Amino acid sequence: MLYMESATTIEQVRQSVAAARTAGKRIGFVPTMGALHAGHVSLIEAAIGRCGYVVVSIFVNPTQFGPGEDFDKYPRDLEADMSICKQAGVDLIFAPSASEMYQKENITWVSVDKLTLNLCGKFRPGHFRGVTTVCAKLFNIVQPDIAFFGQKDAQQALVIKRMVADLNMPLQIVVCPTVREPDGLAVSSRNKYLSAEERKDAVLLSAALAECEKLVAAGQRSCEALIEAMRKIISESSKAQIEYISIVDTETLADIDVIEGRALVALAVKIGSTRLIDNVIISYQPRSA
Ligand code: AMP
Repeated sequence: MLYMESATTIEQVRQSVAAARTAGKRIGFVPTMGALHAGHVSLIEAAIGRCGYVVVSIFVNPTQFGPGEDFDKYPRDLEADMSICKQAGVDLIFAPSASEMYQKENITWVSVDKLTLNLCGKFRPGHFRGVTTVCAKLFNIVQPDIAFFGQKDAQQALVIKRMVADLNMPLQIVVCPTVREPDGLAVSSRNKYLSAEERKDAVLLSAALAECEKLVAAGQRSCEALIEAMRKIISESSKAQIEYISIVDTETLADIDVIEGRALVALAVKIGSTRLIDNVIISYQPRSA
């Protein structure tokens, strides 16, 4: 019989994690906003593979949503999430209330410069400040040895890694591959918002990225040409509104003009009113003479 603890207070988490640590266990941590799916489960599995005690947090963090974004309608189903976590072999689920996490007006923020200026940072002001602040808080509460993030949110993973490095936080960040539906759509809690028609069009995001990979493999290195080819594919949907299609340096996230070595191809597109993001890392290998 699988046994899972559940905690709603910071104090409970501290006690349970301290007991696991005293028992000599390595602590793995998967922070999430709930509405758990196969992408989250892949992170949990990676954590179980490397750690003797795995904590999952479920917290729809208000400080990372801007005005007019989907904080209120974000899917919440704690019962289903608990059952997924239990089934997956999680040891402790931490599902705090907003007042537990933000007991007073929050006037202390962690923000990462430069890496948050491009891509989603350009379109969601304050978003990454909310993400880094809540992750710093959660890392202080759980004190994990390793925290697991998804490549699906490539900019977030890079920003968190940089925060941990710059602030000498004593944990390791592991980034796990993007889990996709059979047709290529990246699994996401927000896919629940899509109507049947929109769901069909949503596949264009991964189709555009696949086309980009194909063109690069065939020798196309001009980012302008690659972005144009992706734009054309996404524009096949009358419901699609492109926020950005960018090709950037994998370390600095600055736009690049020509593919040389590795690059991150990232896009954000609204299908109807649902904002979806996806990305791939491509690499150009010059043929040897
Ligand atoms: P969220 O609940 O959307 O905040 O996501 C929690 C964690 O799950 C983040 O590290 C995400 O990058 C990761 N994640 C979300 N979707 C996927 C996916 N399709 N594949 C892998 N990881 C994912």
